[in-house]
Amino acid sequence: MAGDGGILVVGAGTSGLALALQADAHGAAVRVVERRERLRRPSRALILHPRTLEGLRPLGVTEAVLARADRSPVVDLHLGRRVVTARLEDVRLPGTAFPHPVLVRQADVEEVLREALAARGVPVERGTALTGLAGRTAVLERAGTRERAPFRFLAGCDGPDSTARALTGVPWRGRPYRADILLADLELDGLAPDRAHVVAAAGGIVFLFAIGEAAPWRLLVSAPARPSAVPFGQPGPPVPVEELRAALTAAGLPARITRVAWSARVRLQRRLAERFRAGDVFLVGDAAHAHSPAGGQGMNTGIQDALNLGWKLAWAAAPGAGGAARERLLESYELERRPADRRVLALTDVLFRGEAGTDAVSRLARTRLAPLGAPALPAVLRTRFLVDPPLAVLAQLRVHHRASPLSVTRGRPRGRPRAGERLPDGPVRCGGRTVRLHELTAAPGVHVLLERSAVDPGPLGPGVHVHRLEDRPGRGGTVVRPDGWVGLRADPLEAAGLSAWLAAARGRP
Ligand SMILES: Cc1cc2nc3c(=O)[nH]c(=O)nc-3n(C[C@H](O)[C@H](O)[C@H](O)COP(=O)(O)OP(=O)(O)OC[C@H]3O[C@@H](n4cnc5c(N)ncnc54)[C@H](O)[C@@H]3O)c2cc1C
Repeated sequence: MAGDGGILVVGAGTSGLALALQADAHGAAVRVVERRERLRRPSRALILHPRTLEGLRPLGVTEAVLARADRSPVVDLHLGRRVVTARLEDVRLPGTAFPHPVLVRQADVEEVLREALAARGVPVERGTALTGLAGRTAVLERAGTRERAPFRFLAGCDGPDSTARALTGVPWRGRPYRADILLADLELDGLAPDRAHVVAAAGGIVFLFAIGEAAPWRLLVSAPARPSAVPFGQPGPPVPVEELRAALTAAGLPARITRVAWSARVRLQRRLAERFRAGDVFLVGDAAHAHSPAGGQGMNTGIQDALNLGWKLAWAAAPGAGGAARERLLESYELERRPADRRVLALTDVLFRGEAGTDAVSRLARTRLAPLGAPALPAVLRTRFLVDPPLAVLAQLRVHHRASPLSVTRGRPRGRPRAGERLPDGPVRCGGRTVRLHELTAAPGVHVLLERSAVDPGPLGPGVHVHRLEDRPGRGGTVVRPDGWVGLRADPLEAAGLSAWLAAARGRP
């Protein structure tokens, strides 16, 4: 139980589960409540990006997620009369153990996170909804009963229709899209079954993934928006089979629907919460920002929020934290994540226009420019300097927090990464063997990477791991936060500077 000093996580989607895991792994008492009675639900997200896999790795869940994923997706791009085959396995983004995105059902990611939480003794309390807030007490309702639940911090991971956001009165700025998404799980005749198919059609891009849930194929296609009472982002009414058939016919795909196992119309919006924090209540994931599905960013971004906030709440709730130091630690969540999320939102907006826009430019791009460029595409896909930069942005590997109060540089450290940048992966010598940096740092807590001649900082308390990199000359050091970003870069690394940074990260005066 979270109790007075604990963290109440509202919502057991990917954001809430990741946050609960991160907070629990960093010593917090965590309670997770979820309004739904049934925890397994139809997936929306299917694309998981490298930075998310990296961020989840210290929590010990990445292998289990990958075991349920298509790790080497093949995509047939239908561009006019041409079909170009892209193998994501051929993409090798540098500096990461996960060099390309993978395909995995959101429901599977949720299941893995839920199981990891259960193994830590944290159940998801189903059928339990947040309905009210009074100071640091939440009102929870379950099967007609009402409970007043005290908390130290509340993480509102309750999706785009967030009750936490509504109860705190945080404005929700943005607008709905003029296009809905049609989702369907289908049985199909006529398509190569071992790959995804993406068609640049006049009415919008059509996606068919061979990882459906209720049937082998998952269709995702845009359609003009229709008014509905179903909340944005949630599966709405079923889609008539004629509409699904018409979408495939318009795309010119040689595929015939033989069975529709499940379908839903989903309304979309583009919105950003004006603040990510209201006192002791924090907004995370879709509760803080709602996207179009273009680029597969929403779930990934929410998990990044969660991994950023989880350890901060845990340490801010721990004995010894307090005063201005704790405030700075808590404030850093919004300072770091809101600008990053705003950029992702802008990116998904542009991508969605290309994907689903019905204006003349978007149609022209899909029906004329894409087929014109098709012959050059195989060569482009093999050219790393053309593929890597945009893919690294989609993979969320370029996010940085250089301006954060938790990003500190001391002395004159050379080279990369700088404070506020993600720690790239790569081989190092440590303890007499060659290991990869991300293997070394794959445990919850802070990791202090000492250069060969750096002074030994002595005992640094629980949750701080020290590694000496024998092949890195110098007296400097790099301190890596629990979410994988570099907090401190110092040359030389001095005990006082290190202690000051650790105190700031723990929210201690
Ligand atoms: C068609 C489609 C395709 C997508 N594809 C991708 C993709 O490929 N990659 C990607 O990264 N993203 C994708 N997304 C976005 C992704 O699905 C969302 O960003 C993600 O689900 C957000 O997770 P969340 O945990 O923040 O919110 P949610 O998944 O909405 O979870 C919120 C949870 O809170 C619970 N809840 C709500 N209110 C309360 C309350 N009062 N009390 C208790 N519990 C409550 C809800 O029941 C729910 O379980 C897609 C979205 C759509 C619509």
